[in-house]
Amino acid sequence: MNNRIITYVIVGILLLQCFASAQNVVIIVIDGARYTETFGAGSLYIPRIWTKLRPLGTIWTNFYNDGITKTDPGHASIATGTWQSIDNKGIIRPTQPTMFEYFRKASGALESATALVVGKLKLDILAYSTHVYYGAKFKASTFIGEDDTSVVRTLKMTLRQSHPKLIFVNLPSTDAAGHSGNWIRYLSAIRTADSLSYNIWQTLQADLFYHGSTTLLVTNDHGRHDNLHGGFRNHGDDCEGCRHIMLFAIGRGFPVNTVTTQRRTQCDIAPTTGELLSFPTLYSTGSSLLHDLADVPR
Ligand SMILES: [Zn+2]
Ligand SMILES: [Zn+2]
Repeated sequence: MNNRIITYVIVGILLLQCFASAQNVVIIVIDGARYTETFGAGSLYIPRIWTKLRPLGTIWTNFYNDGITKTDPGHASIATGTWQSIDNKGIIRPTQPTMFEYFRKASGALESATALVVGKLKLDILAYSTHVYYGAKFKASTFIGEDDTSVVRTLKMTLRQSHPKLIFVNLPSTDAAGHSGNWIRYLSAIRTADSLSYNIWQTLQADLFYHGSTTLLVTNDHGRHDNLHGGFRNHGDDCEGCRHIMLFAIGRGFPVNTVTTQRRTQCDIAPTTGELLSFPTLYSTGSSLLHDLADVPR
């Protein structure tokens, strides 16, 4: 091979790598934050998402968990795009394919191209489903932290080391603080999750692999009881407090400074991720959120 051919081959490989990294998706789930303390309170408890990120992205003010308003079912519904009535102890895996499985099966991506970074051991079930055509062969790389700070530390290490393209993060501390029944601690945990979410966005922007080619979604697995149904300490029924959650999207595919009032649900996140990363979500009952925004200039 002469030098020119070698140069063409190298340029070709580099171009392929560019195309391969054309789009990335990061999903952050702030565990158990109620809508009345997120978008419902404006900048009060989520100052960074509200004032720094919101002008650069899109918010949904009518976003819901219409399934079981507990941690494992809520996360599993987000990950699969179907309502998952699984137990909340981490014993049962999702019954329909997760976004990791769809992505890896469709693209041939390695396990290291995915990252599931969670703060609760019982969420390791999200790595893959029991679906007969998918399963462990297409599972996500999984990392378990203990609280929001350790989850984000682990996430940053993973971003640096393997540059995954599909990343699903659980920030557990708001839910733990809510269950303590201490209102001040609960609000403080939301503020911390807000800071960390902003910090994750900044980290992505400072990395050439992610800058300009990454969409970040921030949502919740469930809310918490409203004051007519027991208050913020617990969750798990079908009251408005438990069902109504936040969704924020920033980056490729989403218009800036946009408020969307259409009613959407957790089942729409997997198909949205599929549209962004070019994989079909065959068994999902939701639909891509990008359709709501077809007429909005980007
Ligand atoms: Zn939860
Ligand atoms: Zn409730």
